[in-house]
This record gives sequence, structure tokens and C-alpha cells, in this order.
Amino acid sequence: MCANISEIQMEVQNRPEVKEAKSEAIEKYWEDLKAHKRHSRLMTEVMNGPEVKKRNSEAQIKVWADPDYYAGRTGENNPLWKGGPQTYGWGWGDIRYFIKVRDYFTCQECGTKENLRVHHIDYNVDNMADTNLITLCISCNARANFDREYWQDHFQEMIRGIPNSMERRKVEIPFLLEG
Ligand SMILES: [Zn+2]
Repeated sequence: MCANISEIQMEVQNRPEVKEAKSEAIEKYWEDLKAHKRHSRLMTEVMNGPEVKKRNSEAQIKVWADPDYYAGRTGENNPLWKGGPQTYGWGWGDIRYFIKVRDYFTCQECGTKENLRVHHIDYNVDNMADTNLITLCISCNARANFDREYWQDHFQEMIRGIPNSMERRKVEIPFLLEG
């Protein structure tokens, strides 16, 4: 009489060489798991390290400085209209730097390259859309604190032409686009 399948399986599993192979496999599985955990802990440390963070933010800036990326993303298509750059996990530091790059590290009002600030055109500090941000020097920024309606209109008018200048900026800021 033939043994049924489960009887055969039981018999095979109980052979000493199979038991040993099994415990080795389990041992190996645990080692792999520990190694994997060590590896992911290491990766987390690396990813959160200042070097990688810096490189990531440089890479993001590169993307944003690329006119091809910008094409089709202006106006209503611009993701920055929908929730602003903070939806991409950008910190204010990254956003501010991106705006300065966009504006050639130049005060858009008087043209100086000294003591630059990034100004919120509508005076709402939570509105970090690139269309609401402009590079100003400390004096022009201070002046914009008075006569707010005038300056808001003035800078909104000014900002409208800026995304179209990205192609020119690519030429002027080659270090941002290499690689
Ligand atoms: Zn100025």
C-alpha cells in the first residue's frame, strides 16, 4: 500500500539531514535579516547626513533651473501654484536659495548683489509659491514694508516675466545644470 503525500512529507522532514538543512536555512535567514536591518539603518543615516541633504537640495535646484522642466509648468500648470514648494518637502532655506538663483543673486528692484533677502510679494509668509517670492536687497525689502499695495502690484507685475527667462539663466548659471 502506498503512503499518502503527507506521510511522505513527514518522513522527509524528519530525516536528520533535512532538519539540519532547515535549521541552517533559518539561521541564514536571521543573519540576512540582521544584515538587512543594519544596512537600512546605515542607509537612513547616510540619507539624513548633511552631505546627501546638500546634494539633494542642489539636485532639486538643478531640476528647477532647467527650462525643460519649467516648460508646461507655468501658470496654472505650475505645481507650485498647487500648495507651493513645501509640498515637495522643500525647506525655506532651499526655496530661498532657488529664488535667488532664479533672480541671478540680484535685487530685482535696484540691481545690487549685496545683502539679499527673499521677499513675500503678498506679505503672507506662508505663501511660498515661486510666483510670490522675489529677491530684494535689505533696503528695497525695508521700503516694501510701507505703501504695501503699491509694492505688491509692482512686484506682481515684475514676477510675470520671470519664468520665461529660465533659458537665459541656464546659460548664465551652468554650474547648476552640469551632470
Ligand atoms: Zn535693492
